[in-house]
Amino acid sequence: MFPTDKYRLVHDRLIVEGLAKPEDFVEPPEPNPDDIRLVHTPQYVDDMLNLRWTSRTVRSELPLTWEIIQGYFLFASGTVLACRLALEKGVAMHLGGGFHHASQDHGEGFCYVNDVAVGIMRMLKDKLIERAAVIDCDLHQGNGTARIFEDDERVYTFSIHQEHLYPIKERSNLDIGLDDEAGDDVYNDHLGKAVPKILTDHKPQLVVYVAGADPFKDDQLGSLRLTKRGLALRDRIVIEGCHKRGIPVVPVLAGGYAHDTQDTVDVHVNTARECLRVLGELPKPAAEPAVEAPAEEPAKTE
Ligand SMILES: [Zn+2]
Repeated sequence: MFPTDKYRLVHDRLIVEGLAKPEDFVEPPEPNPDDIRLVHTPQYVDDMLNLRWTSRTVRSELPLTWEIIQGYFLFASGTVLACRLALEKGVAMHLGGGFHHASQDHGEGFCYVNDVAVGIMRMLKDKLIERAAVIDCDLHQGNGTARIFEDDERVYTFSIHQEHLYPIKERSNLDIGLDDEAGDDVYNDHLGKAVPKILTDHKPQLVVYVAGADPFKDDQLGSLRLTKRGLALRDRIVIEGCHKRGIPVVPVLAGGYAHDTQDTVDVHVNTARECLRVLGELPKPAAEPAVEAPAEEPAKTE
């Protein structure tokens, strides 16, 4: 069910569209289990490392194999790296991550490791930041992230999501649960009011933006019914909102289950486009091919 091919497709499309060159992509280092332990309990990390099917691993809705666990650890390593890069450059997008349903003591909903929380906790632990925020715009509530940071005043959690849908809701610092069929205007109206307030009031020094593609209108799991244009405006509200206040921002991909995977890829590529735009690195659209002048008649020779 989880479309893993989207990662490669987003990467390839960024190159084909001239938005990125191969050298613009940075690969994360080998995952460090100590990073994972900053968020997840020792028993749960042990279950994952030993591939034990327990009450802590059974709700993942995923198989439990070494390749999959290594994959989730690597996603966390990628979000840690993206957080570091964003602190240097202002914006760094992780073409992966966003596994916001994983809690400190169990996995669920396609998520074993909460890479969002791991990235933030690593930055806090390394004293690179003192406050962070999670702006979660996936279709589903960021229940794991909300629970992990429930008692941590350093991290503000915000989630805007479809209310009558998985998961059972936890309490974020701010939740906006939207009705089915909300659409572009209702969604972005709420978001446009919430984001500036969060950034001004909490003053995060880093924002992880969970940019799920599943609020899209043709998503198989949801019915928030946003268009690609509406989702691009969503990206702008968050990414530009952070960047113009000098707040480093890390978009991560999270969910996306459109009937046609190319739609999911379009939504994610548009998020990358907004990152490039705020950095002033968006290539100019290719000029229309010049109309060829008709070949001249060969000069007559007498
Ligand atoms: Zn989702």
